Amino acid sequence: MNSYSENLTCFNVFGEDNSWLLDVYKKHGGYKAWQRIIDGEITATQIIDEVKASGLRGRGGAGFPTGLKWSFMPRDADGQKYLVCNSDESEPGTCHDREVLRYNPHSLIEGMAIAGYSMGATVGYNYIRGEFIDEPVPRFEAALKEAYAAELLGRNIKNSGIDFDLHTFVGAGAYICGEETALLESLEGKQGKPRFKPPFPANFGLYGQPTTINNTQSLASVPAIIRNGAKWFADLGPEGSGGTAQFSVSGHIEKPANHELPMGIPFKDLLELSGGVWKGRKLKAVIPGGSSVPVLPAEIIMNCTMDYNSLEKAGSSFGTGAVMVMDDTTCMVRVLQRISRFYMAESCGQCTPCREGTGWIYRMLTRIIDGQGDESDLDKLVDVANKIEGHTICALGDAAAWPVQSFLKHFRHEFEFMVRNNGQSTVDAESEAAA
Ligand code: SF4
Repeated sequence: MNSYSENLTCFNVFGEDNSWLLDVYKKHGGYKAWQRIIDGEITATQIIDEVKASGLRGRGGAGFPTGLKWSFMPRDADGQKYLVCNSDESEPGTCHDREVLRYNPHSLIEGMAIAGYSMGATVGYNYIRGEFIDEPVPRFEAALKEAYAAELLGRNIKNSGIDFDLHTFVGAGAYICGEETALLESLEGKQGKPRFKPPFPANFGLYGQPTTINNTQSLASVPAIIRNGAKWFADLGPEGSGGTAQFSVSGHIEKPANHELPMGIPFKDLLELSGGVWKGRKLKAVIPGGSSVPVLPAEIIMNCTMDYNSLEKAGSSFGTGAVMVMDDTTCMVRVLQRISRFYMAESCGQCTPCREGTGWIYRMLTRIIDGQGDESDLDKLVDVANKIEGHTICALGDAAAWPVQSFLKHFRHEFEFMVRNNGQSTVDAESEAAA
């Protein structure tokens, strides 16, 4: 295995005492980039060009190039423009944005200030998941207070003529509010239901004004990019996947944890860093980017590197960098049932394929597990998933469909076995045979 320093990059104050305080952040070069902007040393266009060249892609799941997204904003248009940070981290398996809020909130504040300036947005909101009310929200709020007291935020910052006000908004804990237009609806005080696109938020966003929405980790990466240069960031990862990412590794491993590591790390190395599969068992499958992305069996993931291109080529996606590991005692039918229940419960109900289809999938899987399945159910499951995918307002429909398609593609034999054996799983049969 290569050696990987966990302190090489964007979030390097993790692990230090009181890492969330302004003084500690500054000791690590914090707010240097923002100060250069305040001093007029870097223009808005230069910032956007630098972020484009860095290869930073949205870490919230979609992987859209961040600099390109910023360039869509009509910077010089009249009227208020907004920057919104999506800290509504809810994708199952994902638990790294909350660590930024908890341990390095100033990297996010500085990143938002820089992003806001580059796009002409003078007001920002950080939309934080409701369940983070205990620790991440107060930490972020305290950091905001420090930044205002140090005159790093506000109106006419240090007489530079630059304005940037930043506010916290705490959501109510609905998964769908992580979808950017549902988030905007919620921020406006309405039910969090996704909007039809177009119009896109860059033209018609919060309160109908031009708005850019970025993920927490994406924005928190920006100060290090401006401080160290686009090339430094791009060179940390392979072509098409610049920088580092935080990997949330969970499931059947010895040491579940978040790791900040270069994009493109071989999966084998990530597994080894996590102590390997727990209890000395064999690896069966991995969901590499949060529960929405297609599952990969061990023989495929073991040859992948953890970046956009490699995982897409393998038939999955980088997603949120949430890596869920499953050992050889896992029943894949039960895992899929569990995932499907989540999407059924979280569907906002606006589109018929998603509202009805997610329920059908969950009920069919439950029937199979209860020993009342039929072999024709397996094709029906895929058929329903195919009819949801691409036929809905937002990506929750796809997120519900992809697990079904991929579990049936790679592990169909387990579903067939269960149907033919009145609900008995292959893993239960194997352990009975071994006993
Ligand atoms: Fe709502 Fe599902 Fe339609 Fe998204 S896909 S808008 S969650 S019903």
